Amino acid sequence: MLIVQKYGGTSMGSSERIQNVANRVSLSLYASYKSHKQYVKDKDNVNRNNKLVVVVSAMSGVTDGILEHAGFFTSTPNERDLDMALSSGEQMSAALLSIALNAKGLKSIALNGRQAGIFTDSNHTKARIQYIDTTNIYKLLDDGYIVVVTGFQGLSNSGEITTLGRGGSDLSAVALAGALKANVCEIYSDVDGVYTTDPRIESKAKKIDRISYDEMLELASMGAKVLLTRSVELAKKLNVPIYARSSFSDDSGTLITTEENIMEKPIVSGIALDKNQARVSLISIQDRPGIAAELFGKLSKANINVDMIVQTIGRDSKTNLDFTVPKNELEKAKNTLNEFDSYADLIDYDNEVAIVSIVGVGMKSHSGVAAKAFQVLAKDNINIRMISTSEIKISMLIDLKYAELSVRVLHAAYKLDQ
Ligand code: ADP
Ligand code: ASP
Ligand code: MG
Repeated sequence: MLIVQKYGGTSMGSSERIQNVANRVSLSLYASYKSHKQYVKDKDNVNRNNKLVVVVSAMSGVTDGILEHAGFFTSTPNERDLDMALSSGEQMSAALLSIALNAKGLKSIALNGRQAGIFTDSNHTKARIQYIDTTNIYKLLDDGYIVVVTGFQGLSNSGEITTLGRGGSDLSAVALAGALKANVCEIYSDVDGVYTTDPRIESKAKKIDRISYDEMLELASMGAKVLLTRSVELAKKLNVPIYARSSFSDDSGTLITTEENIMEKPIVSGIALDKNQARVSLISIQDRPGIAAELFGKLSKANINVDMIVQTIGRDSKTNLDFTVPKNELEKAKNTLNEFDSYADLIDYDNEVAIVSIVGVGMKSHSGVAAKAFQVLAKDNINIRMISTSEIKISMLIDLKYAELSVRVLHAAYKLDQ
């Protein structure tokens, strides 16, 4: 069996933790899957040697530390150089894990993005993987090595080191699992799976056994950072089964798979919270063809990610247009929107907001899910400022001060704690 594993920053956070990862990797050489709930890691029970590719993140705090250092000099560091600095975090942790594995008497080798054959576009600090040349990794696996690969980085066609964006190691792992045609991709963090909501917000959150790619996509994109959205997108496209597990327990974790593989389709699977969005409102903006195209065209050109767009029916050639942007892009958005001042009576910004979302495939065939959410929030006097829906999701923009409370009351209302 070929297994790709990924260990996140917390799992790699100290020498002791890297030793713990090395011990787990060594046991995984003998792991087998009897069923998705029966993950056997007993050397005596199974006498088969797996092939292992292990993707690692930088030790926790290292990436933030590098960004902080760069920020000492300028708020807009040169992105090519920043990538060179950022990639060093993963290079250190990959090498340390390989040293630990070799010290245990196992045969291991650490590769950086280039050595692993991960090629990206040249969009520094948020590069996209274009292809993976698996020649080197396959050869090393055939030679009996455990291959440890730096997550979060690759090489552009012009030979520059690139990074994939925050949390990008999840993506590296899924992309490698897809390219190597691995049997599974295991993503290890500090939670033993995907929960009905962030267990740090609601201690009554329950672990989900299986969840569909689409539900996980919505949860991740709406704030459940246990998996990076782009990694789930890719896993769905390449049909890579993901197990989300903890590196601190032996729990079987959560399987992220196709909807067909899920027998019981709950109406609501989980609640996600995103506190990183800000609201932008253009009040009494001219209502004529081309306004939205011009406005969102400019925002897109400035590389600003717009979400949750709501426009109301216009009256007297005026309308209101509201949307959200990531908080850390709000300043950029303000600068871009300056030139639209004359188009609207008022452009209003609000940083003190959060988006709470309800996700579930069962919503497709059930009515009343939204009505219930609105009633529950109303009962706690939580005002809903914007609403957007998809087939399997309802998102509501609320005041930041109600963020955690809204998660807890919704979690209880859909009986996710039972
Ligand atoms: P890593 O550093 O290993 O990549 P992350 O910190 O990115 O790990 O992701 C794990 C964290 O995701 C958990 O500590 C948890 O607080 C958070 N999280 C948010 N929503 C969920 C959820 N629905 N289920 C599980 N964890 C969640
Ligand atoms: N080290 C990078 C980060 O902190 C990538 C990752 O951990 O996935 O964002
Ligand atoms: Mg992560």
